[in-house]
Amino acid sequence: MLRGLIPERRAVSDAPSVSPSPVSGDPVSGGPVSGGFASGPWPWLEEAMASLAAAHAAGRTPHAALVQAAQGIGGDWLAKWTAQLVLCSKGGGPCGECASCRRVAEERHPDLIVVRPTEDSQQIRIEQVRELCAELALTSHQGGYKVAIIDPADTLNRFAANALLKTLEEPPPRTLLVLVAAQPSRLPATLTSRCQRVRVRPPTRAQSLAWLERARGPGDWEAVLDVIGEAPATAASLDPAAVGALRADTGRTLDAIRSGAADPVVTAERWSRSELPLRLTCLENWLTECLRAGLTADPHAPELRATAYSASADSVMNTRALFRLLDGVRGLKAALAAPINRSLALESLLRSLRE
Ligand SMILES: [Zn+2]
Repeated sequence: MLRGLIPERRAVSDAPSVSPSPVSGDPVSGGPVSGGFASGPWPWLEEAMASLAAAHAAGRTPHAALVQAAQGIGGDWLAKWTAQLVLCSKGGGPCGECASCRRVAEERHPDLIVVRPTEDSQQIRIEQVRELCAELALTSHQGGYKVAIIDPADTLNRFAANALLKTLEEPPPRTLLVLVAAQPSRLPATLTSRCQRVRVRPPTRAQSLAWLERARGPGDWEAVLDVIGEAPATAASLDPAAVGALRADTGRTLDAIRSGAADPVVTAERWSRSELPLRLTCLENWLTECLRAGLTADPHAPELRATAYSASADSVMNTRALFRLLDGVRGLKAALAAPINRSLALESLLRSLRE
């Protein structure tokens, strides 16, 4: 019953910052993932799918659903599946095969509107929401539901969120809004309180690995997940061998910078040109492991899990400096979309490794 068509095109919106954009010739990204990636099932989404399907079957489909899912675990897929649930021409749960289901998967259905951040601002703007609300007020093309997917909804800016409020308060009949957000707390409570919350628990490591093997075939997916965390949909767009190599290179270079054998300026320049988000994730992990190594050296510290990185003994820095640097790395990751001088910002962080 809980079938559904897999999007042929990946929604760009669910590609988190750790996932480099698939550029041709890119050493890490495996490029757009087709067919295999799409193949289900997504076991960690099944609970949410079952509950949405039951509500729909009972005639209790909400006007607005807020899919709360961490980045890279298929929240975008679930949003489209939900659209298929109400637009499928066969009814009884999305068949995944009818023309409607296919059009939803390809984002070509006349009664489906998908709103994503504009590329230049990385935000969803008020004009986009006004346009959406005007469109939702019109009669549906096929006499059924009109569905809007807003993804990621936590990029709605304040004005856009306010503009959406009226439609959420008085939705036209047979309207379904699906908001996808990793951090719904960024949205105004007036908005989230009008949505039915659909929480997606992140997959377990075993579920992620099994899914990746099915979607992409054998590979050292464990190593990829060690780097990027439990984000299988993101992992599926990466090349495991290249991620492993990049992680090892990052660790070696950081040790070399600390010992004075590598130049922070040259490194910052090199890293900022290619795979910077992934480099920053590796740097973040490296710092975390340094902190763990420092803490575990303290016999009174609680036992911590086995480390993916083995920070060499001489790389254990002053804890306060490490935390400061970690904040800096996270700040830079969050600011990557903004027009900043990446190389300069990174250079300043790498320089502090020597202080
Ligand atoms: Zn169908």
